[in-house]
Amino acid sequence: MNHTYALEPSRADMVAMGEAALDFINRFIEGLPHAPAGGSAHDLERVVKEVLAPPAEGGARFETLLATFGRAAAPGLETAGPGYLAYIPGGGLPVAALAEWLANSVNRYTGFAATAPALVAMEHGVVRWLCREFGLPEGAGGLVTTGGSMATLTAVVAARHQRLGEVIERGTIYVSPYTHHCCAKAGAIAGIPASRVRKVPTTEDLRMDVAAARRMIEADRAEGLRPFLVVGSAGTTDTGAIDPLGELGELARGEDMWFHVDAAYGGFFQLTARGRSRLAGIEAADSITLDPHKGLFLPYGTGMLLVRDPSALHAAYSGSGYVLQDIDGGAALPDYAELGPELTREFRGLRLWLPLHLHGVSAFRMALDEKLDLSEYVHRELKREPRLELPWTPQLSVVAFRGHGGDEGNRRLAEAINGSKRIFISSTRIRGEYFLRLCVLAFRTHFDRIEEAIAIVRRAASI
Ligand SMILES: *Cc1c(COP(=O)(O)O)cnc(C)c1O
Repeated sequence: MNHTYALEPSRADMVAMGEAALDFINRFIEGLPHAPAGGSAHDLERVVKEVLAPPAEGGARFETLLATFGRAAAPGLETAGPGYLAYIPGGGLPVAALAEWLANSVNRYTGFAATAPALVAMEHGVVRWLCREFGLPEGAGGLVTTGGSMATLTAVVAARHQRLGEVIERGTIYVSPYTHHCCAKAGAIAGIPASRVRKVPTTEDLRMDVAAARRMIEADRAEGLRPFLVVGSAGTTDTGAIDPLGELGELARGEDMWFHVDAAYGGFFQLTARGRSRLAGIEAADSITLDPHKGLFLPYGTGMLLVRDPSALHAAYSGSGYVLQDIDGGAALPDYAELGPELTREFRGLRLWLPLHLHGVSAFRMALDEKLDLSEYVHRELKREPRLELPWTPQLSVVAFRGHGGDEGNRRLAEAINGSKRIFISSTRIRGEYFLRLCVLAFRTHFDRIEEAIAIVRRAASI
């Protein structure tokens, strides 16, 4: 006879399922050092077919479904492993997963402070701590989002609301060619079309040319347009280049524009001495996008927006609805539903709070410092390789390089490197040319894997 699970499972069922899940997780983590970096496509078609099937009327065994999940998780990139050096890694701290388990079980409503005040305080405590780390003034705030794109969208809409009011057609935004595309996407969603997003050229070191930005802003004003937003990158995704944040802040202030800093990749290096000196000027920001699912190594679905003045978010997002008429959060704690687009939202606070309080901040500072050391080491070692070209010293933890074989040759080089199955890297285009990029950010990436990576790249480049 088939065992069925009540929607409220018995204690014995909960224990059995919990133990099986924990066992799965431990085995997964233990297997990561040996897992193929590019995943394995073994049995892919069968697994896809299996999981596409509609749910059975009578349910199924937990163990059976857990095994299916295991097969479904195998194909694709091993984004949790030490060899993942592509795009922007992070890893996913195991303790954050425990936090999810707990948070989802109590399932508290954190759209308003009044419905779960101390849990809202838990989330707010992390936000406030980060506001201080970034040198934002007392009274600064923000909220935890699903990712950097949502944080950026939340900021762009607030900036538009504050600087343009209801007349938005003539608004213009200033980015660089290496600004993440989520900024232009946010503009488009906010009613600022691509033709009003200006790409300010960069200097030799791939940082935004502030004088050029000023000229473009003046020219646009002369045309009757309304420049309202400057975006600086605190580490571009392509090469980790940091725009001149202090100067951009001054420019924005002088021009009465909103200054947004996209620190989705580079922001948490602020926790290190080197990072803090390189990100100097970020304290001038009106808003900062962070991605804890990158530099704090949390699971995907964890972004953050910090703002100098939370009332700017409130002005853009506070809605009203009679069904909410009896909810009054008071002034001391934020009502997150009034600071961003979501009403009902996941309680993402514990996912941040628990790992930070459990491991302590220094564990994160040390891990981030290690990533800076490792990327300096990769850069130094690859720079000695005559078959490779490395035009930029990494400002953070992205090492961009290429061989002499043009686009096609470099594509083959990337294939050969990823063919090792021990590391996985990705590519980009700088000034129209194909570059490979190796990004060290996963908390599981240490010296041993980086030594291996250097050897793999050397070997592939010498073919
Ligand atoms: C990853 C990234 C984003 C987008 O964030 P998501 O969390 O992927 O939505 C924006 N800007 C930079 C610099 C990034 O690296």
